[in-house]
Amino acid sequence: MTRPLVSLREILAPAEADGYAVGAFIMCNAETADAIMAAAQQEKSPVIVMLGPKEEPVLGLQNTVQIVSTLAHNYDIPVCLHLDHSRDPAQVQAALEAGFPSVMVDASSRPDEENAQITRRIVELARKTGATVEAEIGFVGFPEMTTEADNTNSNPAESRLTQPAAAEHFVRVTGIDALAVSIGTAHGRNPGRPELDFQRLAEIERRVEVPLVLHGATGRAPDQIRRAIQLGIRKVNVATDLARVFADTMAEALQEGQGFFWHADAIVQVKQRWVALTRRWIEVLGSKCQIVDRGG
Ligand SMILES: [Zn+2]
Repeated sequence: MTRPLVSLREILAPAEADGYAVGAFIMCNAETADAIMAAAQQEKSPVIVMLGPKEEPVLGLQNTVQIVSTLAHNYDIPVCLHLDHSRDPAQVQAALEAGFPSVMVDASSRPDEENAQITRRIVELARKTGATVEAEIGFVGFPEMTTEADNTNSNPAESRLTQPAAAEHFVRVTGIDALAVSIGTAHGRNPGRPELDFQRLAEIERRVEVPLVLHGATGRAPDQIRRAIQLGIRKVNVATDLARVFADTMAEALQEGQGFFWHADAIVQVKQRWVALTRRWIEVLGSKCQIVDRGG
């Protein structure tokens, strides 16, 4: 049977109850969205398909909602469509209006009070459509990227770790549904701190009721990810790992074809590799076989 796209609340509640994390994988087009869902179906896992600001221009918000909904109907697993890391409140609002069941508003590069105000406004908008909101306090750096919005931060590369008391206050005043924490990871290929700050994570978990989100997981040893999940991480974002496979596949195809490749062949390869990689992540996150067979 068909089912609509679900919000983070619906997809993370069982993860909270059973102590696993749901992977949030970045799509960029219909093919990659399909690969992510196919992998989750094979693993009988719930899945979060994410669209980030870099991917948004590929299809646009409305087309993305329509395409992901249509593709999700082919699978019998819960699928959440989530806007990742939008620093533009107007874009977040547009995503909610387009039918995104979940969004992340990221004002984490701004002072905490301003971050809370911007986030609170988005939560109020989201409540009208039943959508869920993720936000971040502390700052998971983007060492390899410079974006216009990062200019608000004195050093865009540098992460600021999440302060547990500030996190508790932030969740209370904003009413968000999930909190992204900065505990030593970094976005991109930069590995961040060698060891995650598990003590900090445990303290945040003790003070905060909503599910916690880990960004910048690429390159982390599976043991560290599993430990973070034991301590309360319920959503793990995966982007760079997938981007690298996409780029490598194209580069190999170009090399093998001596400067030319047939695009469809390369895209089919990308899909196969994305399915394999997404399945490996699902295994690490513990969401494998969490979907009980509903008997056809
Ligand atoms: Zn992130």
